[in-house]
Parts: sequence; structure tokens; C-alpha cells
Amino acid sequence: MKENKKTEEMKREEKLKKKIKDLKKESRPYIAYKKLILTAAKSEYDPRDVVDSLKFVSMHIEKKNWEMVDRVGGTSGDLMARGACPKCKINLVGKDLRPREFTLPCLIKGCTFMEAAQQENGRKKSNSIC
Ligand SMILES: [Zn+2]
Repeated sequence: MKENKKTEEMKREEKLKKKIKDLKKESRPYIAYKKLILTAAKSEYDPRDVVDSLKFVSMHIEKKNWEMVDRVGGTSGDLMARGACPKCKINLVGKDLRPREFTLPCLIKGCTFMEAAQQENGRKKSNSIC
């Protein structure tokens, strides 16, 4: 009899845990929007760029692409980010998805952006010698 009561309680707990999990899942887009709006409100970018970011993030909220949602619209998100380097994860900005100048060199081996930047720097140096 006592055993039965225990399993009953465990079942109830399981159900509650599942419910909490479902609710968390359900609330995720709303929490993401809240963070996005706060991040956007704090930003000092051109309002048109901010609107573009809002559109970009809401598209990714719809797609449930939480990694990108957090990267751009999260609490410490980068509103102008539109992608990430697959190697070093630095934010990529602009239509042509380039890292910002100051984020380089990332010093991650195999990062194509860093290699390109170093080649560029090498060229500049050899030019200035002439
Ligand atoms: Zn990289």
C-alpha cells in the first residue's frame, strides 16, 4: 500500500517536471523577444539598422535557431551580427559576412578570416617598405 503511494507521487512529480519543461519550451520565444527588445533599446545603432536586427532575430526566433537568437539579440548580444565564423565563432557583420577589424586576429588555427587578415597585413607591410 505504501509502495503504491510512493509510485503515485513519483508519477505526479514526473508529470509536473514534464509540464515545466514544456512551459519553458513554450516561453522561450517570449523570453527571446524580451531580451531582444531590451538589447535593442540599449543600443546606439542607427534606428534603421536596429529594425533590420529586430527582423533578423524574429526570423530566427521563428526558426527556433536559439544560437543565433542569443548571439544577436541576447542580453550581451551583438545586434549587428549576422553570422559566426565556423572556426573561431567571432561575429560576422554586414551583407558580405565579414568579421569586424578589431576582432582580428582571433589567433585560432585554421580560421580563414585570420589567415586572410595576416596576408593582407603582410602585403601592407611590404608595401610600406618601398
Ligand atoms: Zn575565425
